[in-house]
Amino acid sequence: MHSRVSVVGGGVAGLSLAALLGRDMDVKLFEEHKVVGYPKHCTGVVSSETFKLFKNMLFEPPTLASSREVEIHAGSKSLLINLSKNPVYVLDRQLFEERLLDSAVSAGVEVKLGVRVRSFKTSPNGVTLIAGSREESFNSITIAEGAAGRLSKSLGCPGGEVIYGVNYLARVGECIEAKIHAFFTKSTPGLFAWFVPIGGEAIIGYGGGLIQRDKLLNYIAKHAGVKLGGVVESYGGLINIAKPCSPIHCDERIYLTGDSAALNKPLTGGGLYAIARLTPVLAGAIKSGESSSLIKAFKVLEKRHRVQLNARRALMALGGLHVGAEALARSIEARELIEAWDFDHHEEAILRFIKHPAKALSILQQFLSAVLFRAGL
Ligand SMILES: Cc1cc2nc3c(=O)[nH]c(=O)nc-3n(C[C@H](O)[C@H](O)[C@H](O)COP(=O)(O)OP(=O)(O)OC[C@H]3O[C@@H](n4cnc5c(N)ncnc54)[C@H](O)[C@@H]3O)c2cc1C
Repeated sequence: MHSRVSVVGGGVAGLSLAALLGRDMDVKLFEEHKVVGYPKHCTGVVSSETFKLFKNMLFEPPTLASSREVEIHAGSKSLLINLSKNPVYVLDRQLFEERLLDSAVSAGVEVKLGVRVRSFKTSPNGVTLIAGSREESFNSITIAEGAAGRLSKSLGCPGGEVIYGVNYLARVGECIEAKIHAFFTKSTPGLFAWFVPIGGEAIIGYGGGLIQRDKLLNYIAKHAGVKLGGVVESYGGLINIAKPCSPIHCDERIYLTGDSAALNKPLTGGGLYAIARLTPVLAGAIKSGESSSLIKAFKVLEKRHRVQLNARRALMALGGLHVGAEALARSIEARELIEAWDFDHHEEAILRFIKHPAKALSILQQFLSAVLFRAGL
């Protein structure tokens, strides 16, 4: 059993893991910033499933809003996804991280804020971290450093596509529906743009392309049918779209989690689902020194990612994700797929269609016309 362990990174992945480990182990967490939750980068949209996983793991995550409808816009078409049974939640990311920090501290974790881990070296008994101006040894470490992957790269994790995502927090000049909009456009071939209402404000953002701010805001205002006030805040960050990296390295002396293991969903970039799913299993493996459950859970996730990643590559080869979205929006058969939409398991919808050649053919025809008639931002 590991006795003294460290977590590098105080985002959702690192803090939630530390909070679980701290109950039974001597844990030290390093976060390079002086506060958690800043700088902001994430929109915080999660499914009911992810919300419940976090709730069962530690506590109910604080939210800014919830939504029972997502409207997908692609070209001149749109598709409404009804999520009345399983609403989507917008987490208050900053407050969530602050509460995770409280949980970790209450569990006895020693938290070092404002200390960056610069490098590490392994020894037969564990791992030595070079943090700030000091060296410190641990039986094992978990790297939860996010998408930049400065430390995880040295573990030979395969790289992949890196997307830059931007968010603008804007005032909304009127009372609006609690409906999330996703816009698939030729300006964002690698992802999409979004409009996420949170009371009198909205998070408007995009990833996988480049859009000038005012052009984005005008486009969204027109297509979401809202009047926008001024931009209050802007922020963003990197999203890793890659084959996930194994969570276990150097004979269980080093573990990887969260965005540093590229656990983001390849078709949306969302990373919180995988964190919610894997963290309790990872904590169990670190506590017991027995990794079979972690390997099994990771393989399930890896298999799902493979299907999504292949679908993504095929769409990118056709011109971008908007081509697929447009085909779905045009196809009557797609309605069935959308009805069975699962926010976290896009591969299930993809596999369902592959099993029905007639439907797949119909969507393929729409793909071809979407390639020919591309529209959008
Ligand atoms: C624009 C944008 C929108 C997004 N929207 C969503 C969404 O709606 N839903 C969703 O599920 N996901 C979304 N994501 C992805 C989501 O934000 C990430 O999956 C999630 O934040 C990853 O958490 P993490 O703890 O792994 O990494 P991070 O949140 O990046 O945390 C890592 C922490 O480690 C610290 N750190 C790094 N290196 C060191 C070091 N050497 N020493 C000490 N500290 C270090 C960093 O400062 C940081 O605080 C979005 C991402 C972006 C960029």
